[in-house]
Amino acid sequence: MIKYEEKYPVYEISASKIKSNACKIYEMCKSNGIEPVGVVKGFSAIPEVAELFIEAGFKTLGDSRMREIIKLRLANIKGELMLIRIPMPCEVPELVSYADSSLNSEIETIRLINKEARIQGKVHGIILMVDLGDLREGFFCREEAIEAAKEVEMMENVKLLGIGTNLGCYGSIKPSEKNLGELCELAEAIEKEIERRLEIISGGASTSLSLLINGKMPERINHLRIGEAIITAKDFPYVWGIEMPGIYRDPMVLKAQVIEVKEKPSYPIGEIFVDAFGNRPVYTDRGIRKRAVLAIGNKDIGDFSKLKPRNEGIEIIGSSSDHLILDIEDYPGEIKVGDVLEFDTFYAAMVFLCSSDCVRKEIVE
Ligand SMILES: *Cc1c(COP(=O)(O)O)cnc(C)c1O
Repeated sequence: MIKYEEKYPVYEISASKIKSNACKIYEMCKSNGIEPVGVVKGFSAIPEVAELFIEAGFKTLGDSRMREIIKLRLANIKGELMLIRIPMPCEVPELVSYADSSLNSEIETIRLINKEARIQGKVHGIILMVDLGDLREGFFCREEAIEAAKEVEMMENVKLLGIGTNLGCYGSIKPSEKNLGELCELAEAIEKEIERRLEIISGGASTSLSLLINGKMPERINHLRIGEAIITAKDFPYVWGIEMPGIYRDPMVLKAQVIEVKEKPSYPIGEIFVDAFGNRPVYTDRGIRKRAVLAIGNKDIGDFSKLKPRNEGIEIIGSSSDHLILDIEDYPGEIKVGDVLEFDTFYAAMVFLCSSDCVRKEIVE
């Protein structure tokens, strides 16, 4: 076996910027009576980066994959671990061994967790997920959620921590006073049945911070699960139009190397059929243009629209599995073969970059 690690592409992650963002978001939540979970799935739970969340004050880290929860546990991360995707029945033994709590929406799976936790001599925390209209995971029927809560309350090796919801994922639904208010009402209905207060009412992910910023977060929401706002922090300015003072928007940068620079026509020659992925893109004829090809592709980034060149005058015009094509005609300087260009990354590109084996990850100051 040859051990080979690429010099480029490299994905640089700034430890000081992530730590600073994590501190700011943690304090912002705490001062509003909210305990946030630090969601680390976006960067594949690289332990050195996850550790920065703990240093910033986060008590619990969340990830959607058991593989990454186990990785964090084996790296001796000093925090509680929460599985934030509904567990697969086949991973219940690992869930009970390595995670402290999980989000759930199926009573049958919770029964399995309870049984396994009894075998392992543990108590596993459960947050029941409620679907408020985004239509991904969660109890849709309120009565069913209340019945599940009552049953979980009676189990000995799981503890009902509270309820939660997820928004803005499948159905693109915006968190609001109305939908999160409904979550609080349901929590109160459950509390009446079980005759105690629920510890946690979890009001969603980074997008729910918009309510916090506008002072519209319902009183009883006391828990959020935050990843994006700390690690790429681009949704606020670009999607929500909210400036977040003091939050770094560029804790990560992608550096890729130029492998070809040539002048070529901008309109393909011959009969236009389909591209590498079976799509039929539209091309505009802008005449002969100077272009650069970089050694990185969709395999590493998913989709080139999720990258933003850091230099003015550079436009990404296309990509295939292993190549990224730039129009550099308007770039004021000179770009040569061997040069390294830098890109900001949106969340979707970060997910691909962090899970690609062909991209070196480097944690920098
Ligand atoms: C990914 C995820 C989060 C975190 O989302 P961000 O947008 O990164 O803050 C929270 N909850 C669940 C269930 C998730 O899957």
